[in-house]
Amino acid sequence: MFLPFYVPGREALRIVIVGGGYSGLSALVTIREYRPDAEIVLVDPRPYHLKITHLHESFRRPLADFKVPFATLAKRFNFHHITAELKFDDAELKQWQSDRVITVGQDQIGFDYLLIATGAGFKKLAKSSRIIDLDEFIEKSGPDLLEENLAATGASDPWITAVGGGATGIQYLFEIANFVRERRIPCRLRLVDSEHGVLTQFDAKLGQYVQARMADLGIEHVPGSFFRTQEADHVVLEATETGELSELDSHLTLLFVGKSASVRLHANFFGQVTVDGEALDRVFTAGDCSYYRSLGSNAMTAQSAVRKGKLVARNILRHSGLVKLLEPYLHRDLGYVISMGPQDSVGWVALERNVVGGFPATVVKEIVEAQYDLLLAGIDTYVL
Ligand SMILES: Cc1cc2nc3c(=O)[nH]c(=O)nc-3n(C[C@H](O)[C@H](O)[C@H](O)COP(=O)(O)OP(=O)(O)OC[C@H]3O[C@@H](n4cnc5c(N)ncnc54)[C@H](O)[C@@H]3O)c2cc1C
Repeated sequence: MFLPFYVPGREALRIVIVGGGYSGLSALVTIREYRPDAEIVLVDPRPYHLKITHLHESFRRPLADFKVPFATLAKRFNFHHITAELKFDDAELKQWQSDRVITVGQDQIGFDYLLIATGAGFKKLAKSSRIIDLDEFIEKSGPDLLEENLAATGASDPWITAVGGGATGIQYLFEIANFVRERRIPCRLRLVDSEHGVLTQFDAKLGQYVQARMADLGIEHVPGSFFRTQEADHVVLEATETGELSELDSHLTLLFVGKSASVRLHANFFGQVTVDGEALDRVFTAGDCSYYRSLGSNAMTAQSAVRKGKLVARNILRHSGLVKLLEPYLHRDLGYVISMGPQDSVGWVALERNVVGGFPATVVKEIVEAQYDLLLAGIDTYVL
């Protein structure tokens, strides 16, 4: 394969990637494409790569389909996986840059380049036995989790309160609505959100479409309210504007309150981490944990994560080569589609005001997901 401005040197190349999500793996596959001889170590506490953009589909597909064992990928792409969670701060990053060694457990691992791609994690709220959050949906399939928790309520026609009208909350809400209808599970659904509409980060037409479908399906919408707590048979809410507390019947709460923004590393145009204004030329970052000072998209999306991962891989290769000319990050998001159960979706393509809905939007989403599956199979079809 030919990579512009990459003239490989003779030296061996040792790369450590911390985090095997969308960005870490996209970088790994790209490096392997151009340097079959590179020594690559992946550090990740999970035994599998989680295709988290599919997680809500566990209501209709086995959860195992979205967990690709690192052991399988290690055979395909020839890398060594170490099961560990790496903790670090700015001082540590500077130390790693100068020593070119990281300590993982008892092991000292030398590297020429380090990539940090640890994602963003989810916001955590205090939990009780009547509350489910995304961490639990990673461990157990949607149907098992929902049915067990509904049975535990003992209610004959329970209320389920979903909290969070962002993309993840909406995707789960429609999957659950479809699932309980198909299985004829008696229950009522409600969405609570602090905003006044749903999907407020997108063009207003997306939210309008979703709210119309929610009304068709009889899903209650409670906007302008913070979730406070779920008791045995009711939920406590706080009005965002007045602070007034209120109670509504509820037997189970599902939390989809968004990502934690606590671990964003700053990086320059090329994906190299900056600490105190200084670029660490051997330490790169990509994905949700990174914020690039550049014209490209810093959205916390799989699309940006893949593009940043591929860009830092190309820049690591170029930096290791004879011509150290790096490429700036300029990727703009090409669209975003939110699934609304198996048959419906809504989103935008090319320009944010180009709204697509229904079956065509579902097809767009499936094409995007298939492209990522091809990358994991070693077939890179990304042109942009
Ligand atoms: C339910 C859901 C649906 C989504 N749907 C879409 C969608 O349809 N389209 C879209 O564009 N985006 C979607 N997103 C967002 C998308 O999944 C993220 O933007 C994307 O996963 C970010 O990739 P990443 O590589 O930065 O992080 P991740 O994919 O989260 O991977 C991070 C990896 O780092 C590992 N890790 C974490 N901490 C450490 C540590 N300290 N040391 C070592 N390893 C660590 C984790 O185990 C994980 O494997 C969705 C997110 C969710 C939660």
